[in-house]
Formats: sequence, structure tokens, C-alpha cells
Amino acid sequence: MKIVFANSAWVSAAEKLILRGGGWQKIRLRVRYGLIIHPQAGPVLIDTGYTPHVTTGARRSAMLRLYGAVLGPELVEAGQPMSVLARFGLTPRDIRTIIVTHFHADHISGLPLFPNARFIASDAAWSRLKARTARQNLRHGAFTELFPADFETRLDGLSAMRQIPSRGDIPGGADLFGDGSVIAVDLPGHADGQFGLLFPEMDRPLLYAVDVQWLLKALVENRTPGFPARLLAEDFTAIDRTSAALRRFLAAGGEVIFCHDPGLTPYDLTPEGG
Ligand SMILES: [Zn+2]
Repeated sequence: MKIVFANSAWVSAAEKLILRGGGWQKIRLRVRYGLIIHPQAGPVLIDTGYTPHVTTGARRSAMLRLYGAVLGPELVEAGQPMSVLARFGLTPRDIRTIIVTHFHADHISGLPLFPNARFIASDAAWSRLKARTARQNLRHGAFTELFPADFETRLDGLSAMRQIPSRGDIPGGADLFGDGSVIAVDLPGHADGQFGLLFPEMDRPLLYAVDVQWLLKALVENRTPGFPARLLAEDFTAIDRTSAALRRFLAAGGEVIFCHDPGLTPYDLTPEGG
């Protein structure tokens, strides 16, 4: 099984917004998404990163236009899903499965590009999203206009999947492909229903921990940013609990990758930006 991450876009943020005790200087953050080449399931995407649906889509709502303008993601052409798939001899039609770790725009923006994909996501979080008004969902950071209209009929919810128990500091969770190779691990705090992906068969067990923190440094040095990150978090107090569990996983020999950390990891596609 092969796992790679691509960078769909760059966004900038003042360090103090993403690292407690940080400075005012701007940090350029990646917006990763992943591609798994799984021996049985075939090519599987982990989220989609930012795509033009957020930055230039002609039918965007006023709120989505505002979001795009404020965050100002700088799309990376060579890191967009089409370009990355082409490097593997694939087209969007070849993608049969997309793992949707949570419903924020930088994770779901490109879902409409993949007409043949089914979506693995938290069905519990989807039910809660459906029960809210569009305005309430915005407060949870979810732009419902970005979902394909038939999202629900293509949803394979985590709740129906076999659970693998944790082993010491190696977390457990839903066994996505029934072979123990990719396990969905609950990561409460950042967003409703957010889960990460544990790849226990790597030389060092790998946990893609999505958006638990923006920076690896904030995890390792226990520097969760306070205000205003607190306002944006689904459950701010859970972030430190989840981060503590990730530090135990690191101490047990695991490797953690976040979506936005600027550092290049061995799993990132190169050249730079790709
Ligand atoms: Zn997020």
C-alpha cells in the first residue's frame, strides 16, 4: 500500500493564531490531502484540499466568497487533484472512494470532481449537519453548498464498520477496508465528527491527524493556541485531551502528520508545491 500527500494550496496565518506564545510573523501553511493506493480498494483520496470551487466558483454564496477572500488560499496548480492523479496515470473517474475526515471547506471543496466516488465519513456528524440550518452550519465551519447534491446516497458511514480496539497508546477505531490497513481514529476538538487515519502497517505507525493542531510544534511543545482559535473549535477543551493522546502515540514510536504543518514529510509529493 502506498500513501502520499499533496499540497492543494498555501494559506498564511500569524504564528500567534496557531501557536500559543507565537509571534506576529506570518507562517505559510500547506493544505494537504492524501492519496492511498490500496491493493483491494484501488486509489482512495483522503479529502480533496482547496479547489477552485472555493476560490472562483461562479455560483458561490456571499458567505463563501467572503470566506475565500478572507483566507485567501493560493491554489497550487501542480498540487490540485487532477494534476496529482495524472502523475499516477489516474483520472478523477478512477476514484471510487474518498475518505472525508470532516466537513470543513478545505477538506470537501473538490468532492464534485469525482462522479464515481463513494464517501467514507462520520454518518453521525452528517445527521447533525442535516438537522442544522445553513446558518448554524456556518458557525460549525461547514458550507453545505460545497457538498454534491447526492452526498448522502453515496455516504458509507463509519458507524456500520467493524471496530478495532486500541493497543496501549496505539489508538483503535473503524476498520475502513476490512483488512486493518487503514483505521479511522476519532479526534474530537477541532470539528464535529473529525477523525484521523491510522496506518498501522507502516515501518513507523503513521497517524494522519488532520486538524488537531495546525503546527506539529504546537503538539510537541504542548502549545495549543487560545483566543481566537477557541472560538473556531467545535470543542475547545477536547483539543488538549486529543493532543495528549497524540503525544503518547509519538512517544510509543508513532509518526504524526497534520494537514497544515509547513514542514515537508517523507510522504509529501515533491517537487515543492506538488
Ligand atoms: Zn478543519
